[in-house]
Amino acid sequence: MTSYNWINDFDISCAVPHLEYPVLGTPINMAVTSALTQMENSQWWPAEKIIETQFRQLFQLMTHAINTVPHYKELRLPSSPVELRNMWQDIPILERGDIAGQGDGLQSNKIPPSHGRINVQFTSGSTGQPIGIKNTELSRIFWRAITTRDHIWHKRNPKWKLGHIRVAKKGQASYPGTRGMGWGALKGRDALIKTGPVAGLNINASIEEQAKWLMETNPEFLITYPSIIQRLAEYCLKKGLRPEKLQQVETISEILTDKVRSLCRKAFSVDIVDLYSTRELGYLGLQCPDNEHYHVQSEGVFLEVVDEDGVGCPPGVAGKVLVTPLHNFAMPLIRYAVGDYGVLGEPCSCGRGLPVLKSILGRKRNRLRHPDGSHQWIAISAKDYGKLLEIAPVREYQIVQISLEKLEFNVAVEIELTEDQIIKLHAWARSALNFPKEVVVKSYPELERSSNGKLELFKNLIE
Ligand SMILES: [Zn+2]
Repeated sequence: MTSYNWINDFDISCAVPHLEYPVLGTPINMAVTSALTQMENSQWWPAEKIIETQFRQLFQLMTHAINTVPHYKELRLPSSPVELRNMWQDIPILERGDIAGQGDGLQSNKIPPSHGRINVQFTSGSTGQPIGIKNTELSRIFWRAITTRDHIWHKRNPKWKLGHIRVAKKGQASYPGTRGMGWGALKGRDALIKTGPVAGLNINASIEEQAKWLMETNPEFLITYPSIIQRLAEYCLKKGLRPEKLQQVETISEILTDKVRSLCRKAFSVDIVDLYSTRELGYLGLQCPDNEHYHVQSEGVFLEVVDEDGVGCPPGVAGKVLVTPLHNFAMPLIRYAVGDYGVLGEPCSCGRGLPVLKSILGRKRNRLRHPDGSHQWIAISAKDYGKLLEIAPVREYQIVQISLEKLEFNVAVEIELTEDQIIKLHAWARSALNFPKEVVVKSYPELERSSNGKLELFKNLIE
């Protein structure tokens, strides 16, 4: 077990006048602390005890859903958590498209008032249709408990300066960026713990500005996207820049590859900690403190990896990720297909009973379609990346499937490619992507990011 004693090391924000010790935070923060204290134990429970406890919670959720949510009213009401567990894989999968077409059908008509204020979180679906997911204050208590767990697991000093390069509206947080105090959105007594300074920069700042900002703000802890840290690491290596105080990088949102992990080590001598979450569902997995895989956050979600028939995949086999948030009684999502594919792992060497998620294979659209209709994951090996860089200094790439017969391989390079390089890139793409038909190589100075600022590594225009 970790010797890091968060409750002593973290400075809880006091909300009650005249208290020196022990201090008490706001009622919401004390609820977060209480959840976190219980979760400090449950992470070490045996796997079976964790699943049993989840099904007791799922039984509560399911009963509520069948009784108060129109979409679920036809489902058979189980008589016990054990019966629910036996029938679980017969419950239909909820696809993203089902939500977009539902209107109020997925909302409870009897939300428990004690679960607090209702909040709507909008996200844009793969179809471009925004969907609204309702949740309650209760979900946000667990969200914050897991945020804090992430700090505890990765031994962050709350006094560190946090730097973040994130999506911001045009014109906001442009270079030289923003400065403030406190890591989270909540400040003063509303923040759970007292945290250090913060510096922010817009993701659309140029690479020169990002590097300048990093050197000037010199944070201990940096949060950004894998594609951004990749670019920064490459640039800083090239220019011989090294932010001296940097201790840890956390990546969010995009798929993190081993290549980016090692690049970050090479450039900054620090490790990347990755996070698996979605805006509408909260935290799904946190990186294990001892390994590079993820632990499912079982106190908040029930996560399955299933095959095309909805049956659980054994460890090591890729399948669709289904998530059931355990505490959303405003809009229960049961066996919701998030759109990612994942691989479960064997029990972890760290001793935690929380399930291991070995890898996340990315969005469904990261699969190529072959002319015969079959699918193929895009998985470029480290060796292939090496070969690619021998051909040309490719900074970023993007694969676009135009049709069953045609792929585009777009690369960002700062130089003008020679005829010979283009021929070699073409041969590389055909072999690394294993695509039997036409592959066209195009080079650009910069690759266009989508409206949310992320670089889509793979775009499928036919599905
Ligand atoms: Zn572990």
